[in-house]
Amino acid sequence: MESKNEMLLVVDSRSCNEGLVRIAVAAFSTQLNPTLEEVADIKTAVSEAITNCIVHAYESQEEKIRVECRIEGRELTVRVADTGKGIEDVKKAMEPMFTTKPEQDRSGMGFAFMEAFMDTVDVESSPGKGTCVTMKKKIERDSSVFE
Ligand code: ATP
Ligand code: MG
Repeated sequence: MESKNEMLLVVDSRSCNEGLVRIAVAAFSTQLNPTLEEVADIKTAVSEAITNCIVHAYESQEEKIRVECRIEGRELTVRVADTGKGIEDVKKAMEPMFTTKPEQDRSGMGFAFMEAFMDTVDVESSPGKGTCVTMKKKIERDSSVFE
């Protein structure tokens, strides 16, 4: 099997596309023969990142979300980028239970879930320009019985 592979998805920031991207990234990751638990982790992390673009970056306006996926060796990288409003204080935004939308029943756990379910989460953001969330996960164990 090729040890490097890439996928690029650009979708409108509509909630129906959250499910589409989640499933597409999960399907892409199956090349690494992840366990069902690892696939579930990836789906949850992607779902949180996409929801943040829809809810926070664009505040329900319809714009583009760019999702770049890459497999290199045993490592999956998922990069979710928006050109929305950006984050003033990234460190604070990443603290568990910090949310700028408590009135919308947000619990402020999105970044905490991404960090719990992926190996690394890196957030770059410029207020007024957008945000890019890069998540990495190594799929160490090959769960395939056919290798
Ligand atoms: P939850 O994810 O539990 O519904 P939440 O979205 O508020 O709540 P996080 O996902 O952890 O919690 O995000 C924390 C805060 O970071 C958000 O409240 C928002 O202010 C900011 N934020 C996150 N992602 C973005 C983004 N893509 N663009 C702009 N702001 C963002
Ligand atoms: Mg969130």
